[in-house]
Amino acid sequence: MAWEFSTEPEFQEQLDWMNDFVRAEIWPLETLSEELEFDQLMDLIRPLQDEVKRKGLWAAHLHPELGGQGFGQVKLGLMHEILGTSPLAPFAFGCAAPDSGNSEILALAGTPEQRQRYLLPLLAGELRSGFSMTEPATAGSDPTLLETTAKRDGDDWLINGRKWFTTNGSIANFLIVMAVTDPLARSHQRASMFIVDTDTPGVNIVRDVPTMEHPWESFGRYGNHAEIAYQDVRVPHTSLLGQEGAGFVIAQQRLYPGRIHHCMRWLGVAGRAFDMLCERSLYREAHGATLAQHQTIQNWIADSAAELQAARLMTLHAAWKMDTQGVLAARQDIAMIKYQGARVLHDVIDRALQAHGALGYSTDLPLEAMYRYARAARIYDGPDEVHRASVARQVLRGYTPPADGVPSEHIPTRREAARMKFLNSTAR
Ligand SMILES: Cc1cc2nc3c(=O)[nH]c(=O)nc-3n(C[C@H](O)[C@H](O)[C@H](O)COP(=O)(O)OP(=O)(O)OC[C@H]3O[C@@H](n4cnc5c(N)ncnc54)[C@H](O)[C@@H]3O)c2cc1C
Repeated sequence: MAWEFSTEPEFQEQLDWMNDFVRAEIWPLETLSEELEFDQLMDLIRPLQDEVKRKGLWAAHLHPELGGQGFGQVKLGLMHEILGTSPLAPFAFGCAAPDSGNSEILALAGTPEQRQRYLLPLLAGELRSGFSMTEPATAGSDPTLLETTAKRDGDDWLINGRKWFTTNGSIANFLIVMAVTDPLARSHQRASMFIVDTDTPGVNIVRDVPTMEHPWESFGRYGNHAEIAYQDVRVPHTSLLGQEGAGFVIAQQRLYPGRIHHCMRWLGVAGRAFDMLCERSLYREAHGATLAQHQTIQNWIADSAAELQAARLMTLHAAWKMDTQGVLAARQDIAMIKYQGARVLHDVIDRALQAHGALGYSTDLPLEAMYRYARAARIYDGPDEVHRASVARQVLRGYTPPADGVPSEHIPTRREAARMKFLNSTAR
């Protein structure tokens, strides 16, 4: 029997430390983050980052030779569940998106020079990065339609196009840009990745796009999403990241583990909302009883507990599969947790918000912000519909239509076959 659901005691100690640290040091900072400039916030977070480094938990997603911990996906998943409880916690632990994914790409595909120049300072927290793939004019859910181009010009490449939703683009020192290098190649071999310094002439950060999460106009804030016009951006050939035409392959390597981390972070957020739901139900009285004594609220609590547990097990199982069998074997599981995790995140927050009535809708509690954050989960990292379609396709590969058009479970047909098999032989 190899099924195993326990955590090594030494790692559990580290998780316990992270849990205490995040609640004591990082949750309080959330209440100030809107009133602080990015540099002020950084001044407060840097000592916390130092403490995380002293504990040996900094940038845990990378291999030890790159200063990480070499944690597999299961350990990273458990860690991200704790860090997900606060939008600032992954940043304090050197594993916030998009820097964490970009560092994985650089580790995977970067030349020794690229690693030296970008990866090491990124890991040290000295540089910030953005991942610039989605375009306003083409469907991000089908990146084979990308229109941004990179054309050879002597020893250089010239990049032209418009991107948006480049998270942290306006505070990044460099961007990893996906651009079409061979329009005539097969659809998944047309694009390549480039490392582009944000101060390169022609990189025009047009604006940070206001969103449901941050509806007000702002520029240069951590977590903002930049719209960027690339106009004759000249970069040397050494900016090419990985092989020419390997953009999609590298992007997938980045996105699969990233989805596991997202899902575990969502569970962290949803777990926090769930705690609020339970707390509220114990003290709020209406119609002669506490909310906890009303059956609808009991159902919400029971359903949320079950859905959280199911999503957690599914996500950790996907992580385990990736650790033990590799990314290809885990593809379907990772697609499933993406839309399942996003739904659980939304539903648990929605119930917690509803149970708090007007207070839940107000900014006096973090629930309304969680709710806005949750809505994006169904869109980024591939819209849920695309993942569902992919899962359905993979599932259906295991089936064939009945040759005679009669369903295999058709009872009259099976009964007739059973009669032939059992009754005729008994009669003999
Ligand atoms: C908060 C946030 C952060 C982001 N950060 C980044 C980033 O750092 N870098 C980056 O490059 N991008 C980023 N993105 C962009 C994100 O990756 C895209 O929004 C996403 O891939 C969807 O692309 P799109 O917005 O162009 O929607 P579209 O591709 O236009 O899709 C619109 C809708 O069409 C439907 N649809 C599409 N395909 C199918 C299908 N096969 N079946 C059924 N329905 C379908 C879905 O409902 C989908 O939501 C971010 C987005 C958000 C919201």
